[in-house]
Amino acid sequence: MSQRQLAMVMDLNKCIGCQTCTVSCKTQWTNRNGREYMYWNNVETYPGVGYPKKWQELGGGFDSAGDLQPGRVPSIEGNYGVPWDYNHDELASGAEFKPNIEPTWGPNWDEDEGAGDFPQDNYFFYIPRICNHCTNPGCLSACPRDAIFKRDQDGVVLVDLDRCQGYRYCIAGCPYKKIYFNPKISKSEKCILCFPRVEQGLPPACAQQCVGRIRFVGFLDDEEGQVHKLVHKYKVALPLRSDKGTEPNVYYVPPTEAPPKFDAHGKIIEGSNRIPTEELEKLFGSEVHQAIKTVKTEMQKRKDTGKSELMDLLIAYNHEDMFRLDSGYYKEYAKKHSLTPKKLLDERYSAGKNSNTMKFFMPSNAKGGDS
Ligand code: SF4
Ligand code: SF4
Repeated sequence: MSQRQLAMVMDLNKCIGCQTCTVSCKTQWTNRNGREYMYWNNVETYPGVGYPKKWQELGGGFDSAGDLQPGRVPSIEGNYGVPWDYNHDELASGAEFKPNIEPTWGPNWDEDEGAGDFPQDNYFFYIPRICNHCTNPGCLSACPRDAIFKRDQDGVVLVDLDRCQGYRYCIAGCPYKKIYFNPKISKSEKCILCFPRVEQGLPPACAQQCVGRIRFVGFLDDEEGQVHKLVHKYKVALPLRSDKGTEPNVYYVPPTEAPPKFDAHGKIIEGSNRIPTEELEKLFGSEVHQAIKTVKTEMQKRKDTGKSELMDLLIAYNHEDMFRLDSGYYKEYAKKHSLTPKKLLDERYSAGKNSNTMKFFMPSNAKGGDS
């Protein structure tokens, strides 16, 4: 258990699926050096199979007795999709623009597909996902090398690359499949909640770049902070698949008001909602009903009286108000615990920068390749 816990809230009513968060994370951390297939932040269409494919069915996490559950390690070819590149260098000489392999699967392969029948009751919404920096991490419990640790100062879950031997039990143990194996360095790697930024008082890149301004970042015990208010005061932000027992610290404001359904004659069915409640219950538990009710009640209150603290929080008038981080806290913590400043970046993250070799992922029968 860490002393304090940094958390993120994402308001799903505002996510437009633009993937700016995905790209901001990818360009910063995972576009090279064996990480090409990793998406520490991804945004998936729900309902859909997600990334990696069918992650909700791959096990891990804990049962109600607190026992770690068996899980599977997703495969590159079957669950993630082999990453591919394009022949940009050949275009000037008139070559046809084409991928270097025949892609068969990848992140967002099923983007915007959703469910239901158009135009009567089709629906989808977006779920951005990062590592949940869980209070009871399945990845940490599964690691026989004690290579995964949770920082005391903010609860960020990290892999000690010196201890990791690439056994991959962590991947099986994480029910969100948010930890990945790097075949180039034979280590497991995951979202680091941009801790080098956070320690400087800056939010994680995915949160700062978010176009929809859906992400709030702060400490759960900061009672004046938006994160505390959304999670604990108003209880409108809920963890994803809390039944997996890892106590996630990323919370979601569920989709509150979907458009109504149409009948066979194209007429609106009053009072109907396209998103089936059982789907929301599966994702966010039975608390989802009260959370939706609270948001709707406060929306009405705002319409009637012009006032609602919750609506003001969710509208997020000022971008900087969405993040309550304090570099002074980290400096004080380091002083108190005599921590020597670490290098901002483990050199293994930057080695191979701008490398275009993805041979670790090339299927044996692939055409072309760039080895
Ligand atoms: S989401 Fe997965 S990888 Fe992240 S802390 Fe929880 S169990 Fe570990
Ligand atoms: S940047 Fe924000 S709005 Fe765009 S997909 Fe990511 S979370 Fe959604």
